[in-house]
Amino acid sequence: KKYIIVGGVAGGAGVAARLRRLDETAEITVFERGQHISFANCGLPYYAGGVIENRDALFVMTPEKFKASLNVTAKVRHEVTAINPASKTVTVKNLDTGAEVIENYDTLILSPGASPIKPPIPGINDEAIYTLRSVSDIDAIKQRIDNPATKRVAVIGGGFIGLEMAENLHRRGIDVSIIEAVDQVMNVIDYDMAAIVQANIRSKGVGVYLKDGVTAFERRSAGLAVCLQSGKEVVCDAVLLSIGVRPDTKLAKDCNIELAPNGAIKVNDYFETSQKDIYAIGDAISFKSPLLDTDTTIPLAGPANKQARICADNIVYGNKKTYCGTIGTSIARIFDYTAAATGLGEKALDRVGLPYKQAVTHAAHHASYYPHASILSIKILYNPENGRLWGAQAVGAEGVDKRIDVLAAYIKKNGTIFDLAEFEHAYAPPFDSAKDPVNILGFIAE
Ligand code: FAD
Repeated sequence: KKYIIVGGVAGGAGVAARLRRLDETAEITVFERGQHISFANCGLPYYAGGVIENRDALFVMTPEKFKASLNVTAKVRHEVTAINPASKTVTVKNLDTGAEVIENYDTLILSPGASPIKPPIPGINDEAIYTLRSVSDIDAIKQRIDNPATKRVAVIGGGFIGLEMAENLHRRGIDVSIIEAVDQVMNVIDYDMAAIVQANIRSKGVGVYLKDGVTAFERRSAGLAVCLQSGKEVVCDAVLLSIGVRPDTKLAKDCNIELAPNGAIKVNDYFETSQKDIYAIGDAISFKSPLLDTDTTIPLAGPANKQARICADNIVYGNKKTYCGTIGTSIARIFDYTAAATGLGEKALDRVGLPYKQAVTHAAHHASYYPHASILSIKILYNPENGRLWGAQAVGAEGVDKRIDVLAAYIKKNGTIFDLAEFEHAYAPPFDSAKDPVNILGFIAE
C-alpha cells in the first residue's frame, strides 16, 4: 500500500504515525510545503515571549527522526500542487529547485490546515505586518521584536492567538495594543465573561480598542499607523494580524472535491471526501456538530490529532470507526486569567434560534478558607425544556481547566443540569470545596 499525506503538522504527522503502527509494510510519504513538520503551533506564542527558550523544543518530530523511528518519508518544502483522482496521482513541486514529479497513491490523506485571513485593507502588505501560523512566521516575528527599535506592537484580532501573543509581547516589555472589530475579545465566550478578561488586560496597561475595525495601514514619521473606523489611529512599529483562519482547500477544490459553503472539505463520518480513496482531516474539514444539525469547522489541535487516529484506523481496517464530532472545547491563558469555552455560547444559540437559559456562579476555586483561593466564574447555557446542556464558559485565575473539561465531557454525552447537581469529585481543601462550582451550577439551574 502507498499512502500519501498532504501537510505534515498536527493532522498529517499524526495520521502518518498511526498508519505505520497499523501497517508495517506500507510506503508512507508526507509532503509539507513549509520548512518544518510536526511542530508545536500552539507553543509558538510562548517561544516569542521567551517562556519556551529553546527553539528546538518546538519540534515534536523532524524528517530525520520520522524516518529513523517510524520509517515515514517526510519531504519539507514540497508542495502538492494538483491531485488527479482518476489516475490516483498527485503532482508535487520541490519549492527549492522548482522540479515537479508525479506520484501515485492508493490512499491520499489531506491535512492542509487553515491559513490566516489577510483582507485587502490598504497598506496590508507593509513589511512590518505579520501573520502567525508556522515556525518560519514566528522566526520572522521574533527577529522583529528582538530588535530594540520594536517598542510598540498592535495586535489586530482579540481571539486566542492574538491574546496569547499580546500577553507574550507584553512580557517582553513591548507596548501592546489590541484592536478588535466586535465589542469584546474572545468571541467564543459571552460578553459578560469576556468583560472579566478585558478588565484584567487593561489593568496591565495594554490598550484595548473594541468595536473598531481597521480601515488602513499608513506610514507616518512616527511609525506604522493602524487607522480605525472611529478615526482613531494606533501608531506602532509592528502589527500582528490574527483575525481568524480560512480552510486551505484550493488543492481540494481544483480536483472537484466537494466543499462546504465556508470552503472547508466535506467529509463523511469516516473522513472520506467526495472523491474515492481521498480522506481529509483537521482545520480544513467541515463536520457535523454534535449539538446542532449543521456542519461546522473547528480549527483546533485536539480534534485534528484525534481525527488523525480514527482516519488511519478507517483506512487500514476499512471504514469501521465513526467520528462523533467536536464541540469546540478551547482554553487560553490571558495575563492573570484563564478563559475557556465548550459547546454553544449565547451568540451561537441566538444565531440558530435554540431556546436557552443560563446559570452563573462566581465561587472559590478551592475551599475558601484554604490559602490562595481565587474566584472562578462559570456560566452554563441549557435547554429550559429538558435541562440539556448547550455550552459552558469559565474565567478565573485557577481551576478553569478542570471545570471546563468536566463540563465538556457532560455536554458531549448529552448531559443535563441534573447531572451537574450530582457530579462527583475528589475533595480536600487544597483542591476543591465539598460542593464543586459545577455542582453549584446544577443546584442553581435545577
Ligand atoms: P496544520 O497543523 O496547520 O498543518 C497543515 C500543514 O499543511 C501546514 O504546515 C501547511 O504548510 C501544509 N500544507 C497545506 N497545503 C499543502 C500542500 N498543498 N502541499 C504541502 N503541504 C501543504 N489549537 C489548540 O487546540 N490549542 C492551542 O493552544 C492552539 N494554539 C495555536 C497557536 C497558534 C499560534 C496557531 C497558529 C494555532 C494554534 N492552534 C491551537 C490550532 C492548531 O495548531 C491547529 O488546529 C492544528 O495545527 C490543525 O492541524 P492541521 O493538520 O489541520 O493543520
